[in-house]
Amino acid sequence: MSNDTIDRRTFLLGTAAAAAPLMTSAGECRQWRRIAVEEAFSFRQHAQALEGTARSNDDSLDVEFLRKLYAQPRARMFEDMHRRLLDLEEERLKIMDRDGVAMQVLSLTSPGVQMFAPAVAVDMARVANDILVDVIKRHPRRFAGLASISTQDVEAAVKEMRHSIERGLHGFIINSHTDDKYLDEPEFFPILKTAEELRAPIYLHPRSPSKGMAGPFRKYGLSGASWGYQVETGTHALLILMSGVLDRAPGLTLILGHMGEGIPPVLWRIDNISESYRKQAGLKLKASEYFQRNFMVTTSGVEDHVTLRACVDRLGADRVMWAIDYPYGSSETATHFMNTAPISDTDKEMVFYANAERVFRINVSSAH
Ligand code: MN
Repeated sequence: MSNDTIDRRTFLLGTAAAAAPLMTSAGECRQWRRIAVEEAFSFRQHAQALEGTARSNDDSLDVEFLRKLYAQPRARMFEDMHRRLLDLEEERLKIMDRDGVAMQVLSLTSPGVQMFAPAVAVDMARVANDILVDVIKRHPRRFAGLASISTQDVEAAVKEMRHSIERGLHGFIINSHTDDKYLDEPEFFPILKTAEELRAPIYLHPRSPSKGMAGPFRKYGLSGASWGYQVETGTHALLILMSGVLDRAPGLTLILGHMGEGIPPVLWRIDNISESYRKQAGLKLKASEYFQRNFMVTTSGVEDHVTLRACVDRLGADRVMWAIDYPYGSSETATHFMNTAPISDTDKEMVFYANAERVFRINVSSAH
């Protein structure tokens, strides 16, 4: 069966509720249109540059992690991961077809271009975005893409932001801090303002804790996805929430993966404790109100129905999007997790694809 046939079928099933449901090998109903929104890729030049970064004598947690990832000879698990990161149209499309995933929203794998010298980052972002534009042209119903931008060179980043949206990309990816600095710093404001103006979201993706908070994360394997990533990225989100930049960019949309990087369950407490700070700082809204207005969360890497329910209840189903985190996460288990999620069909429709279509302005019916 050609990809076109599958595209049409998936598309029709997503829009026609009366269509006969297809069954997956696990016996689950295939009626949903599925758009996965935090899906990683890499390319030869990028992988080689990260390998170079891994050889530097920087003592950051990120470099420590890259050393494990790019050590030779590679562990089998890493070998599979590298192969899948570098592939866009072979194994990836087959796995998407197998699990009934209509579309992946692609982004350059973490730390993206965030760790390179400014000139390298500018070039690498351009190459990454060219690759995305090309693959989307070839498979407009199967892929959307988030542009990489060089936060190290804000002027170049803003240019690349405009250019990439003109060329049909759907938003931006920033892998948390840039040289240990966060997006609440005034120097980065043009990036936030440009994203707002372009009505394109910024996906705030994790990397390891910055040097200022690295210490305790050096123990017990806590520096990565188990805890360090969410402390790093959740703290980053809070700096944005508390700095007042969202009063100056009220239309900006930011996306957090991993069920909101730990923030949704503590919003009440943050509001409660921060009220006097908020008044003193002259912030227009409470943290929870900014969060509800300016942030989306995704399900990447947290396949827990209780947590999903809590996010849907706390934020509303219109603020939650489905993600696999391919190839780090399993497409099969992420799909099963959402197929069987204990939420209403209306909510599931929003989480599986409708929110993604709205936020990334994905218009499949106009794709050829
Ligand atoms: Mn990810």
